[in-house]
Amino acid sequence: MRINLSRKKIRDSFVDKVQELSGQNLLACYQCGKCSAGCPAVMDMDILPNQIIRFAQLGFKDELLASKAIWICASCLTCNARCPKGINIAEVIEALRQILLRNREDHLKVENLSDKEKEDIPPIALICSMRKFTS
Ligand code: SF4
Ligand code: SF4
Repeated sequence: MRINLSRKKIRDSFVDKVQELSGQNLLACYQCGKCSAGCPAVMDMDILPNQIIRFAQLGFKDELLASKAIWICASCLTCNARCPKGINIAEVIEALRQILLRNREDHLKVENLSDKEKEDIPPIALICSMRKFTS
């Protein structure tokens, strides 16, 4: 993935918004990687949990909001328990989903599923793919 770092991105209101919604201090992360090492969903993620925090620190809004990882996260909270800095990574990921959902951008568009898919997919899987614990 090609990343362009800029002062403008770091100072973007997106960084403040993620901190405000998640209640987390992103700068507390020192990139030890313990969150990613314990994450049970990491093999399916395009951006690892520690990278999500790093990207959020640096204001990489487009990369984060387009990532599969924020929807793959199962909200199991293992990362929160493992972080030596007390950062609740799951809440940061939740904040990213909230930013999208507040713009009415669902990850899964139910109207695009076929009747067969709607029949086959368990309802709880459908709900989880869209909402997790986002209210
Ligand atoms: S809450 Fe999400 S990111 Fe954290 S360990 Fe669980 S699946 Fe991984
Ligand atoms: S465990 Fe905490 S300090 Fe370590 S990389 Fe993850 S968020 Fe950063």
